[in-house]
Formats: sequence, structure tokens, C-alpha cells
Amino acid sequence: MEPTSSVSEHEGKDSGSASASSAYTPQELIPVVGEEVNAEEGMDVAMKLARQALAVGEVPVGCVFVYQSKIIAIGRNTVNETRNATRHAEINCIDDVLKWCKENNMESSSVFGATEVFVTVEPCIMCAGALHKLHLKQITYGCHNDRFGGCGTVLDTGLLADDPCKIVRGVRAEEAMQLLKDFYKGTNPNAPVPNVKKKTGRKTENESD
Ligand SMILES: [Zn+2]
Repeated sequence: MEPTSSVSEHEGKDSGSASASSAYTPQELIPVVGEEVNAEEGMDVAMKLARQALAVGEVPVGCVFVYQSKIIAIGRNTVNETRNATRHAEINCIDDVLKWCKENNMESSSVFGATEVFVTVEPCIMCAGALHKLHLKQITYGCHNDRFGGCGTVLDTGLLADDPCKIVRGVRAEEAMQLLKDFYKGTNPNAPVPNVKKKTGRKTENESD
């Protein structure tokens, strides 16, 4: 997903100093692929991943894919870390499900069709389109995504799909939104100093960062 703010995350992290290994040091225990979760726990895991994203300076969105009550993929935004604007939590999970299917000799289309997605923020148009295209069983999300939401807030990508996913909205929405607010305010005590450029309009050519 993309954030509900006017600040672009793509402006952050231009120092290139963030190490990939430190990005995966969890602040709290996060369940792994193979663990069983119920419907409530699914969003709980997604929220933990969102908090982890916040802690490492990524837009705080977490996502979990659950198939037959088992986690088959967990993900969060890695846009800054990878410097790839398409590396949203959901896309990272989709890639991991494809790998999981290969490793387990499963047909991905049947797995996706029986998989539920828990994501802390409404998937953006790109991600929602991909999830509908893959015919996921259900998408449960937290807060709305006012700028990029692809499940009805900006565009309902389900209207373009042959067999749209069932959507459940607003699960722990306030908590999910608070994480986004913390990210853009830079108030998270665990986060590295945000490296978001301020557009002051006063910088001259002689000034540098
Ligand atoms: Zn997205």
C-alpha cells in the first residue's frame, strides 16, 4: 500500500546507510511461516509487522497471508530498504506465497483462492488489483487509505475483477492509522531519525545537504 499522507516515503532514506540486516531485528516476537493463527490473530501479526516497519523507517504497513489456518507469508513494506517503490507488504507476500507453493509442490492458483489476507492498511490500487487478479479468498484490512486505496476509497478495483475478493474493512483501524501518523510525525521512539526532506522553498543552489 501507499501511505495516507502528502509526504512521499520515496524521499526518505537517501543516505544509503541503513543496513539490511538491522532492518530485520524484530522488536517483538513475530510469528513465522507455518505457525497457526485464527482470524483475530491474523491482524495481530500484521500489526506487529507494521510496528517493525515503523521501527526501521519504512511506511508502517504489515501483511499476513493465511492458508488453512496457517501463515504462508508475512510481509511489510520494504520500499526504502530496496529502493523499489513497488515493494509493498502485499507484493512481498505474494512473491513469498509463490515460493512457498513451489517448495511445497502446490498449485498457486488453488492456494491463493483459499488464502485470507490480513493487512493493516487498505491495499493501494496496485496491490488491490493484484489481489483481486489472484482471486484471494478474503482481504481484511485496518484503516482506509485516503490517497491510494484500491478497495473502494479511491478506486474499487473489485469492480474490474471477474471474481472479486471478499473485503472486510476497519479491523483495528485506529491502531493502524496511529502507526501511519507516528511515521509521518516521526514520533516513534524506536525509529531512526526520519530523513524526510522538508520542502522549505528557501534553499539556494549554494546550499547542500
Ligand atoms: Zn500497495
